[in-house]
Amino acid sequence: GGGTAMDAVIAAVQFMEECPLFNSGKGAVFNAEGKNELDASVMDGFTGKAGAVAGVTIIRSPVEAARRVMDSSQHVMLSGKGAEAFAREQGLELVDPSYFHTDESWQEYLKVKERLEQEGRKGTVGAVALDSHGNLAAATSTGGMTFKKYGRIGDSPVIGAGTYASNESCAVSCTGHGEYFIRNSVAYDVSARMLYLGETVEQAAEYIINEKLKSQGGAGGLIAVDKNGNISMPFNTPGMFRGFVKQGAEPRVLMFR
Ligand code: ASP
Repeated sequence: GGGTAMDAVIAAVQFMEECPLFNSGKGAVFNAEGKNELDASVMDGFTGKAGAVAGVTIIRSPVEAARRVMDSSQHVMLSGKGAEAFAREQGLELVDPSYFHTDESWQEYLKVKERLEQEGRKGTVGAVALDSHGNLAAATSTGGMTFKKYGRIGDSPVIGAGTYASNESCAVSCTGHGEYFIRNSVAYDVSARMLYLGETVEQAAEYIINEKLKSQGGAGGLIAVDKNGNISMPFNTPGMFRGFVKQGAEPRVLMFR
């Protein structure tokens, strides 16, 4: 409709943050203390600017807070209480932490707690977009990994790990075992391989997810769109809930291979 890629990724991610079916915002997974600690980030491929929040507990829309860090602060990432104080200054909606609870997530937490092992059926949310002005943007929002240690921060709010966008190459949003995505700078690596090796977005994304990460035991996947509108959505897990829409084509939603 002529809008910007940035508005599109924020709108898509906010919709999923509000929906309890995903691991972000309402319905996010619980950490080992039984609390929701949320992470989100956003990057603008046109300006190269980025924003992120990590470990926040009372901001209704972490991705909107990430956008404000980008637009209205001099920083890239704010965490915990400082991020929440900034959100308050910005007039963002703050909620009681109980807002994020859902019975389903709580039951999952209890189950995991009982077995003391990780289990996650709900996914982190992300969106990438190319707009009609040729600008790319990416956004990611998550509750992190179920039963994560209090204070643990994953890849989702880390620019270059879970989120990256550059008009020169592509926009990327990742999901999976965050520690592997941080160690491998996954989102940035997709762009770097395209620029330095001349790979297509598909070649770069496939290599990183299905060869590099897989060989290390790093489970996950990503969604990416390049500056020409080519998309790639590789994953090395049994499934990854994903969808896309292109001008003049029917929207598609996919779950497994
Ligand atoms: N990547 C997220 C994290 O490690 C979790 C996920 O995508 O499921 O926090």
